[in-house]
Amino acid sequence: FNRLKESLAKTRQSFVEKIDNLVHRRRAIDEELYEELEELLVQADVGVNTAADLVERVRRTVRERRVEEAGELKNILKEHIMEMLEGDSAPVNFSSVPPTVIMVVGVNGVGKTTTIGKLAYYYKSQGKKVLLGAADTFRAAAIDQLEIWAGRAGVELIKHREGADPAAVAFDSLQAAKARRADLLIIDTAGRLHTKSNLMEELKKVGRVLDRAMPGAPHEVLLVLDATTGQNAINQTRLFGEAVGVTGIALTKLDGSAKGGVVIAIKQSLDIPVKMIGIGEGIDDLRPFNAREFVDALFV
Ligand code: GDP
Repeated sequence: FNRLKESLAKTRQSFVEKIDNLVHRRRAIDEELYEELEELLVQADVGVNTAADLVERVRRTVRERRVEEAGELKNILKEHIMEMLEGDSAPVNFSSVPPTVIMVVGVNGVGKTTTIGKLAYYYKSQGKKVLLGAADTFRAAAIDQLEIWAGRAGVELIKHREGADPAAVAFDSLQAAKARRADLLIIDTAGRLHTKSNLMEELKKVGRVLDRAMPGAPHEVLLVLDATTGQNAINQTRLFGEAVGVTGIALTKLDGSAKGGVVIAIKQSLDIPVKMIGIGEGIDDLRPFNAREFVDALFV
């Protein structure tokens, strides 16, 4: 919990501490206070609509409970944020018949490779047999990087050479995962955005080939997003969501971000659960997202 608390320091400064200042400065609960609160929420990247919605909920509670102290507002806001995020602690979907296949998608630079390495380590530490598939064949460096992370996590990697068909890599990885009785196969995919229509077709094909080789696979399509990009992350979710049916989000770099409020925006505007959060560059800096823990760490 302390690591999480530390990693949310920037978001806390840019958000909760400003709310503290606001309620101390303006003792009375009036229209101007609500307006300033809404503005703070927008600045914290919770999104314009969500900010308005949250303020409306706070306003209703204030009326119902006949609250007069501005200081109470912070707790009421916390309650409502918690309410919005709850139900989000869904773990990664495991298939009843192994291997469970996780296809990991996301734009280059968001922390995709790192997250795959951390995920492999996380599940390996839980006693699962994990295999990685290097289906980002667009850049040789991507395969090399993934191989380094496979080594760190102590898991095996299936790869072809640069330029190979990503769907073929995915297919071979799945065959290998079955043959080696792996519990979990994590497949990396390309994240070049400058040719995005091709990329989306490529990702769809990877998904189709997996499903044909094992009906129901991939069991999870995990989209990796960089928390420091704020509202950009929302656009990326729409883009990938439409193409490949994202089932969950791994939100990275929360430790360096002042925009942790994006967690709320993702949940409210897209209703895709944040499943994992990255809070550092180390191999064990990935953890399941838990709404209660997150909000408690933010509002300490
Ligand atoms: P990819 O291009 O999406 O595969 O991105 P990489 O996995 O290579 O990561 C890009 C950079 O982000 C690297 O320097 C990582 O160390 C860093 N990174 C990834 N996840 C996190 C995180 O949760 N916190 C921090 N601070 N850095 C991260």
